[in-house]
Amino acid sequence: MEHKVNLDEISDGKRYTKNDLVKLGCDGCHGQASCCRFAEDTITLDPFDFYQLATGEHLSFEQLYGQGLIALSPVQGLLLPHLNFRKETESCPFLASDGRCGIHANRPGLCRLFPLARYFEEDSLYYILQVHECPNPVTPKVKVKQWIGLPNMEQYEIFLKKWHTLVTKTQKKIATATDNQTINTVTTALLKIFFLTPYATEKDFFTQFEDRSAQINSVLP
Ligand code: SF4
Ligand code: SF4
Repeated sequence: MEHKVNLDEISDGKRYTKNDLVKLGCDGCHGQASCCRFAEDTITLDPFDFYQLATGEHLSFEQLYGQGLIALSPVQGLLLPHLNFRKETESCPFLASDGRCGIHANRPGLCRLFPLARYFEEDSLYYILQVHECPNPVTPKVKVKQWIGLPNMEQYEIFLKKWHTLVTKTQKKIATATDNQTINTVTTALLKIFFLTPYATEKDFFTQFEDRSAQINSVLP
């Protein structure tokens, strides 16, 4: 989820690229990932996350939603899916009883990043290190792209920038809409095109995203 924040308050003040070395590590929680608790509805999911969950976990949007693993909440007026943390334990529904992520290989992009966060500036994507989020930081240095751990990092970043632009454009469209019908049309189209329509798991994600982007452009001129 996006927030308007003062970078100096939440980060070390630096902006990193995917090739930069950052002090990142994950030994501190000893398998009891505290970053998978107390995040409430802030782990927003994007289309690539759904492709990963469909490909690796064989979970569709309908199954995820039907089982209460995800929910929809407005983000600056636009309904977007997010992990549906369990109220009673304040933990992620995918957090296993041994304290580890049950979908580690296919975990969402925001989980891959933590305690990094994305920072978009004009046409560029940077990463910031949130200094108050991880209670158990360790200090080895690792390249950002290795921390994220996805193949096709170049294509992934292109997708992230396009998705960010599209979400921002849609939020502006909703903010300036003067009638409910426009808001409903835009919201429904985005949900249907990018989330409800299943991805072909045997095919490349990025090509499918481009095809779907062309579809939404007819709704968002
Ligand atoms: S990122 Fe930090 S809070 Fe999360 S599991 Fe690793 S050490 Fe723990
Ligand atoms: S999906 Fe995995 S890494 Fe992400 S919050 Fe849930 S348990 Fe943690």
